[in-house]
Amino acid sequence: MEKLEIAWLFTEIADLLELKGDNPYRIRAYRRAARALKGFSGDIRQLWEQGKLATITGIGKDLAAKIGEILSTGTCRFLEELRQEVPPGLVDMLVLPEVGPRTVHTCYSQLGITTLAELEEAARKRQLRQLPGLGAKTELKILKGIHLLNSRQGRVPLGVALPLAEELYQDLASLGEVEALSFTGSLRRRRDEVGDVDILAAATEGEKVIDLFSHSPRIAQIVAKGTNRVVAKTRLGIEVDLWVVTPKQYAPALLWATGSRRHYQRLQERAAALGVELDGCQVHKSGRAIPVTEEEVVYQLLELQYIPPELREDNGEVEAAAAGNLPSLVTLGDIRGDLHCHTDWSDGIESIEEMAEAARQLGYSYLAITDHSHSLAVAGGLSPERLLEQAGQVREINRRLDNFQLLAGTEVDILADGSLDYPDSVLEQLDVVIASVHSHFRQDRETMTRRIIKAITNPHVDILAHPSGRILGRREPYAVDLEAVLAAAARSGTVLEINASPDRLDLTDTWARRAREMGVKLAVNTDAHAGERLREMAFGITAARRGWLEPQDLINTWPWERVRDYFQKG
Ligand SMILES: [Zn+2]
Ligand SMILES: [Zn+2]
Repeated sequence: MEKLEIAWLFTEIADLLELKGDNPYRIRAYRRAARALKGFSGDIRQLWEQGKLATITGIGKDLAAKIGEILSTGTCRFLEELRQEVPPGLVDMLVLPEVGPRTVHTCYSQLGITTLAELEEAARKRQLRQLPGLGAKTELKILKGIHLLNSRQGRVPLGVALPLAEELYQDLASLGEVEALSFTGSLRRRRDEVGDVDILAAATEGEKVIDLFSHSPRIAQIVAKGTNRVVAKTRLGIEVDLWVVTPKQYAPALLWATGSRRHYQRLQERAAALGVELDGCQVHKSGRAIPVTEEEVVYQLLELQYIPPELREDNGEVEAAAAGNLPSLVTLGDIRGDLHCHTDWSDGIESIEEMAEAARQLGYSYLAITDHSHSLAVAGGLSPERLLEQAGQVREINRRLDNFQLLAGTEVDILADGSLDYPDSVLEQLDVVIASVHSHFRQDRETMTRRIIKAITNPHVDILAHPSGRILGRREPYAVDLEAVLAAAARSGTVLEINASPDRLDLTDTWARRAREMGVKLAVNTDAHAGERLREMAFGITAARRGWLEPQDLINTWPWERVRDYFQKG
């Protein structure tokens, strides 16, 4: 038993205590002790044998006894009892991104909720927002997390896999034995859905790392275990595959495990032509082992530019790298604003001011307020009068802000016949007009295509939002000829959105790349319904990178003045 494992058990105890609503001081004591153990650099067993555990700050007599019990028996009775006592469904809920034990306890104690299905139902009925300490924001977060989980059919949406993977990563990173660490596979390539969570670690004592990791409280079941590899199911069945190699093997193994398989094969073919042998953990040239300390070394050896993981799909990246033509991919830091979000004027949760403040916190220099139009009654869409009233308020608030542009906009519905939900006389008064399809999803391909092209050809429309309408696991893209839509957008100068919400990611990476080839500009927008959701920009950026986009391809890397000129507004 290692200190980290004991820390994990203490964290589990704290979680279980919190789930059942135990005394906050007791919960805090276990969390503090877990932190103290993680930070402790000495030998815990030795200290125990000397009877000096209580010399660690945060470890009192009671906790010292528990550590002793764990060191001698591998577990402790108190924890075993708690595991029996707390309904397992509550523990499952902790897998929801950003949902902690206190929230789950509130739902359990106030509404008797013990399963994810019950939690979803209560969220849908808007019962959660009435609970003490929860509110509409948390309800939205829960609902979104459940949607993401439900949408997994064999594959896991990136929005679920990544937060879980990051927790596992942190656990591993805190192990002294681990010298290097990375995600691999489709997760490192940031596909919108991944099969499992693949992690590669470098350590001299691999078996020890495998053993420790296998005892993590996040692991529910071991599927297969060897000396340098473990495949396990985390809570709710998402699989994690940890592979540990020696520090010398790490960089070539990273390249191999990141894939894609076809990308790696292409590298191998090229290697063969250059007398280099690429083989999983090893690289040879003319029969001699080549030391590889980072992936870049291999690409150099193959006379290629370094290829970022998001591009490793065998979609022409090897040829481009050979010719020195890889794009300089956009990064999150290039983004200057978000052009699509909602407020409590329609179905958002926060006020205009709160959304503006959240955008400023992210270092943005502009934000467009784009609430729904009146046909979308379920989302509290605004009448033309209300929209203009809101625009007045937005401008009023904007006058009070320094170094920040708050933009008056709308997300106007594209009606069944392709006309817009507001007259031109209203649209022309706005800074940003986003148009989108929210109804009549079942139109045939020709009708839908004509409908969308008619809408984006209106000179007041600046951006087409979520162009395919897909929602991962819930709604297939509607039938539409996107190639024709892109061609029309190229003619009209209409911007296409990459909706960054992790259940949409629409346009997809492939279509984003096609748009760029056709000279269509794009914008990555979050469509946030609460300020903290603006952070989902990161997911949209991964889609943009996978779509080979450079900063200049995305209008929201530009200063607002340039965007305004592009929209031809004065
Ligand atoms: Zn929308
Ligand atoms: Zn929206």
